[in-house]
Amino acid sequence: PVRVRFAPSPTGYLHVGGARTAIYNYFFAKHMGGTFYLRIEDTDRKRYNETALHDLMRDLKWLGLQWDEGPGCEGDCGPYFQSERLDIYHREIKKLLDAGCAYYCFCTEERLQEVRAEQEKSHVPVTGYDRHCRNISREEAEARIAAGEKAVIRFKVPETGVTEFDDMIRGHISYQNELLDDLVLIKRDGYPTYHFASVVDDHYMGTTHVLRGDEWISSTPKHELLYKAFGWQPPVWCHLPVILDKNGGKLSKRKGAASVGDFRDLGYLPETLVNYLALLGWNPGDDREVMSVKEMIDCFSLERINPKSASFDEKKLQWMNGQHIHMCDDAFLKDIMVDGLKAMGVDTSAEPNERLLEIVKQLKPRAHFVQDLATMAKYFFVAPTEYDEKGAKKHFGEGSKEIATLVRDMLASIEDFKTPVIEKGFYDLAERCGHKVGELVGAPRLAVSGVTAGPGLWEMFEIIGKEEVLRRMDVALP
Ligand code: GLU
Repeated sequence: PVRVRFAPSPTGYLHVGGARTAIYNYFFAKHMGGTFYLRIEDTDRKRYNETALHDLMRDLKWLGLQWDEGPGCEGDCGPYFQSERLDIYHREIKKLLDAGCAYYCFCTEERLQEVRAEQEKSHVPVTGYDRHCRNISREEAEARIAAGEKAVIRFKVPETGVTEFDDMIRGHISYQNELLDDLVLIKRDGYPTYHFASVVDDHYMGTTHVLRGDEWISSTPKHELLYKAFGWQPPVWCHLPVILDKNGGKLSKRKGAASVGDFRDLGYLPETLVNYLALLGWNPGDDREVMSVKEMIDCFSLERINPKSASFDEKKLQWMNGQHIHMCDDAFLKDIMVDGLKAMGVDTSAEPNERLLEIVKQLKPRAHFVQDLATMAKYFFVAPTEYDEKGAKKHFGEGSKEIATLVRDMLASIEDFKTPVIEKGFYDLAERCGHKVGELVGAPRLAVSGVTAGPGLWEMFEIIGKEEVLRRMDVALP
């Protein structure tokens, strides 16, 4: 059975690229009837950030990517925090030391810097650690450590040969071993490095497929060599193409919204983000775009991930948000609208529920962001005090006075102030006075709502009610 993981480091916010990695892992697990687990890679103690950890889990949950195992959902392969697995890494590193595949290195930071500077000066073809400590015997090393010297443990990378692997997206890849550094496996503080912890955990936590960002592909030959040294079967590799901004650069906070939290704050729905990010680099095999999570899971496949990098288009995301808002439950949107109105100082607690739902129904086809609902709904509860400037020039001028009076009288004569009756009233009036209906609606809409665009006028008038409609018209068009 498939077991996949999302393995973030709690050092910063959840970038949309990371979110997409989590989405593909989640979809793949659900499609295959497998397990999606969350592993917290917190071995870099200097960069560890408690808030980041909290936000990360909150954001994953908000996106609906609930893990089957992980923090708060203990499974059989825990602990799910790497910082709580140190005894496992220490047990495993012993195996590599015993097999002669790893060694203690006593080089100080100063020495490493000197080596680097020297290499740069002499333009050697292969840079990196010069393997100075590679031949120190185990006995000597242990004696030095017992005497209080500090050491890291490095991997003894083969000096010749090639390391090859297949990537589901990138195809066959091969690396010359001589280009690889003797990477550190255990740091001076006793914590494992990312490479070591990742391999040990993916093995013991039963990871069958590693789906991660393309930026990790250069780490994969190191991981392959570690699997080989342990005699373990590597997982299936699947490196996901990067997400670029519209100018082909990196998507970063410096240039705008880049994290899941940013997009939530802007008023995007989690359904939209999941849908949009899923389609950045994957397609369902037909031309569907607006899809539910269930639909995407049903047809998800790694084969349809596009190897080319994808570019993030916020306009498209906005459009898609409108589509998802349209599909949302009225009651759910009503709550968002009510909260938004409250924040604007508009109390709707005395409003009948049906009226609120009716307003949402009218507004939701026009909303791009959830907070638009409250902004657009305000005039249903509070008469406008200002009017769109351009609109006022056009509709409140001298020439429109006559039309406005005709409309007002027509509306006043309606007894059953309902949508179809109001509509008929406008059409009959248009015919009677030789105007187009379109010419009759501008002034009353602006007078009643303060703006020039909105939902259907007849529906809006019915919801606001005859008395209030007439009152507002009298105020705006005395
Ligand atoms: N902790 C790594 C990250 O922050 C995980 C990389 C991987 O999936 O192997 O992305």
